[in-house]
Amino acid sequence: MTLDQTRLRIAIQKSGRLSKECQKMLKGCGVKLNLREQRLIAHAENMPIDLLLVRDDDIPGLVMDGVVDLGVVGENVLEETVMERQAQGDAAEYNVLKRLDFGGCRLSLAVAQELDYQGVKSLEGKRIATSYPWLLKRYMDSQGVKFKSVMLNGSVEVAPRAGVAEAICDLVSTGATLEANGLVETDVIFRSKAALIQSANALPASKQAVVDTLLPRIQGLQQARESKYIMLHAPKDRLEEVIDLLPGAERPTIMSLAGESNQVAIHMVSSEDMFWETMEGLKALGASSILVLPIEKMME
Ligand code: ATP
Ligand code: MG
Repeated sequence: MTLDQTRLRIAIQKSGRLSKECQKMLKGCGVKLNLREQRLIAHAENMPIDLLLVRDDDIPGLVMDGVVDLGVVGENVLEETVMERQAQGDAAEYNVLKRLDFGGCRLSLAVAQELDYQGVKSLEGKRIATSYPWLLKRYMDSQGVKFKSVMLNGSVEVAPRAGVAEAICDLVSTGATLEANGLVETDVIFRSKAALIQSANALPASKQAVVDTLLPRIQGLQQARESKYIMLHAPKDRLEEVIDLLPGAERPTIMSLAGESNQVAIHMVSSEDMFWETMEGLKALGASSILVLPIEKMME
């Protein structure tokens, strides 16, 4: 199957930690996808968009080489690819359209629990296993510590136990994998989230129009996820105190309640979550029927 030059091409991870969230994001943007297993290319049914489903490592290169127009990839993979390509003299140009609110993780150094770690200088001359040799080198150079890089593409966390390295430099989100392998996280060297990137070449107007439609929708989804719709009943005579407790800076809507002259209904959209402590504080002021609802989409 060939790719139609007039359709916007987006590369996303085929399967892995970013794939579900990417598909959810596109679906949330109204892109109807017909994803069949084992297919490299998927066509959107209702918009001029083609998806390329690939390994995440390939996504920055596909964008930088102009094979696809957009890509969703972890900043860790992006930054590593930039350094690698620059070292090889390849083009490494791209634009970040949006930092996304998923795929959060950190690239960290970790050592065996037994090791007497006194800061990164303890790793002088030691072997460090990693899939991110360039990010690791940049950090170690900045600390003035010499080390030996052991390149591993997977199962980096078993390297110390296997006697392959004294330390590792790997992605961490909860730290459970490190702990399960008897390792302690010592230095965070890079913090990452997924990013939506675009090739540096200007797009033809028809494709740019699709990007201009998608971007505010992604923004709307992200904003909705961070926001809450808050409803409650409050006594009229404590109204100002109640409003002072509500999270966020927005002013609420006040409505009267049928057949109830001492109470009003308060509705508001807040860009912050409401904590249990705040709800308890509201209740103590005489508020009742306090509801905190998720928002699906929003547009300002
Ligand atoms: P592929 O087969 O596509 O090469 P992979 O095994 O290299 O997949 P995944 O483990 O699916 O990659 O991770 C993809 C991205 O998800 C990472 O590069 C990173 O940006 C992000 N991520 C978020 N949390 C974690 C985590 N705890 N461990 C690893 N990656 C994470
Ligand atoms: Mg990968």
